Amino acid sequence: MKYCVKCGLPESYPKIRLDAEGVCSFCRFYEQHQAGLDDYESLHRLFLAEIEKAKEKARQNRSPYDCIVGLSGGKDGAYLICQLKKVYGMRVLAYTFDNGFSTDFGRQNCERLKKAMDIDHIYISMKDSELTKFYRAALKVTRNFCSICFHFMHYHSHLLASRFGIPLIVNGRTRSQIYQNALEEKGLEPFELSHSLKAFEYQMFGRLLDKLEGNSCVDFLPDAEVTSLSYFTYHKVSDEEKMAYLEKEIGWERPKNAKPHADCWAHAAAEKLFLDKNGFPLRAGELAQMVRSGELSLEDSRKILEEDRRLYQSPDPEVLDALFERVGMK
Ligand SMILES: [Zn+2]
Repeated sequence: MKYCVKCGLPESYPKIRLDAEGVCSFCRFYEQHQAGLDDYESLHRLFLAEIEKAKEKARQNRSPYDCIVGLSGGKDGAYLICQLKKVYGMRVLAYTFDNGFSTDFGRQNCERLKKAMDIDHIYISMKDSELTKFYRAALKVTRNFCSICFHFMHYHSHLLASRFGIPLIVNGRTRSQIYQNALEEKGLEPFELSHSLKAFEYQMFGRLLDKLEGNSCVDFLPDAEVTSLSYFTYHKVSDEEKMAYLEKEIGWERPKNAKPHADCWAHAAAEKLFLDKNGFPLRAGELAQMVRSGELSLEDSRKILEEDRRLYQSPDPEVLDALFERVGMK
């Protein structure tokens, strides 16, 4: 097996190509664009212009909110809700997609934020028959269980926004999540903003969506015109800064262990399924992007991935059992 000499991704990674120097196509794309993506002064001007546009449009729509933000109880959503309200003076509607996998950690942090920031907050839960149908399909086809949660979070944010006349969705995706699979400017912030659910999901699922066109069972809400902004495209904030800020401002509680996704009880099982199918851990792409941008050394990323393999190779059988029971595959 060959690996990219810069970021360490394996040649089996989807859509990767290694060139004669052993550097992958994701690294090459990032090299070409890095200067622009790190020019935070210009990026911040773009962000401000979109915020002003959204406030104006919300006034025209007589909407009670300027933007909507998804909140799982993790640090990213919580941090940007505070910023949008306090720094940018926005009227924020927060919503939580209740997928039946939430933890006490996540729920308690949602409540803390809601109280401290004095904002409206909606819990959304959907028909279990529909939701589990998608989870089962994901388990059979891609084994990427988390993509279903992402899809329905975005689906409901677009649905809520269009019902309330809210012109803007701000999401808390990290830069490594945004740029990990980038090979073209199409559909990629800040080069192109999305104004619909389909355009937004193109960033994640790419040409898979073109293939689904016409015979898809997925509703992309074609009439919902809403702009999406990824806050961390335009702001440089480290995870440590986010957590320290939240502790001080809202009494936020850090997760008790350093494992990712403390807001989902099934995460270890989702990791195991993905690892078995793909041969690399779920966050391999994100860590490779952190190496590219200089946030992490290649050696440290290897260590983290090895630890993920060890941790998730054989998760607690009870968690796997509970997951299969939750999606009706027991
Ligand atoms: Zn690479």
